[in-house]
Formats: sequence, structure tokens, C-alpha cells
Amino acid sequence: MEKTLVLLKPCTLQRGLVGEVIERFEKRGLRLAGLKMMQLTDAILDEHYAHLREKSFFRDLKASMKATPVIACCLEGIDAVAVVRAMTGSTNGRNALPGTIRGDYCMSNQQNIVHASDSLENAAIELARFFKPEEIFDYESSNLNFLYALDEL
Ligand code: UDP
Ligand code: MG
Repeated sequence: MEKTLVLLKPCTLQRGLVGEVIERFEKRGLRLAGLKMMQLTDAILDEHYAHLREKSFFRDLKASMKATPVIACCLEGIDAVAVVRAMTGSTNGRNALPGTIRGDYCMSNQQNIVHASDSLENAAIELARFFKPEEIFDYESSNLNFLYALDEL
């Protein structure tokens, strides 16, 4: 099973979409392994968005991510990283396909509802950035045999 990080961005809290977005992941069959509200700081955002440091929108992006607390989620499932990225949709909400989270809930390239890890390697790094080990829970899913075939488990 893979674990991946999702951040529900401040725009999602302000727009009252937290429950709806988490519900989508639950209904898909992803197991919620960690969940918490946290206020992001420059330090964590400089690290998290290091690949965008030189971009003109970097300051605005950081400000948007500090505007309210965010909700951090650890989601688990087979191929969870790719499944969650596909559910997230293209970065710019105006280009994101209907049926994706961004394609259904936003109109912006920046205020785009969620962050989702883009590779298994980055998922591990990002989960360690936002969660302490004891905040990730490996409880057993009671319905695994109905979510997956035996040869997938
Ligand atoms: N972003 C932005 N302007 C851009 C591109 C990206 O404000 O032109 C923001 C947007 O919030 C995005 C985040 O920077 O989610 C991280 O960018 P990335 O390219 O990693 O996109 P993502 O992985 O979130 O789709
Ligand atoms: Mg990214």
C-alpha cells in the first residue's frame, strides 16, 4: 500500500469545502491514515515549495498558504499517489477536467483547493514534513476484501 499527502488549502476552508473534498477520497476507497489542522509557516513553505522559489508567484503562493490553517491528510491505498493526483486534476483549475477536484471546485491556478504529492518519493518526504510518526495511524481497514481483489492485496 502507498501513502500520500494531501493538503486542503486555505481557500478550501474559507469556501466550506473541507468535508466534501475529504468525502471524495473516502468514497473512492482511500484509507484516512492521518488528519490534522495546522498553521503553515515560512520555514515549512520554503521547504515544501523549494522547487518554485524563483517563480514570480512564489510570494503570493506562500501568502495564500498562510492565510488560514490548512488540513493535512495522509491517505493510503494501492497506487495511492497516482490515484490521488488523478483525482486532483491539472494545476490550473480552469484547465482541470470536470470530475476532478480542481475541475469541479475552482477557477484558479493558485487557489486550487488541494496539494497532492506527485511521486512516491516525494510523498514520503512530504509526509515526514507535515506529520510526526505517531500522527500516522496504521489501523486495519475492515473492508479491504471488498475494495480490492485478493490478487491485488
Ligand atoms: N502555482 C501558482 N501559479 C502557477 C503555478 C502554480 O500559484 O503558475 C501554485 C499552485 O497553488 C500550485 C502550487 O503553486 O498548486 C504548486 O505548483 P505545482 O507546479 O507543484 O502544481 P501542483 O503539483 O500543485 O499541481
Ligand atoms: Mg506540485
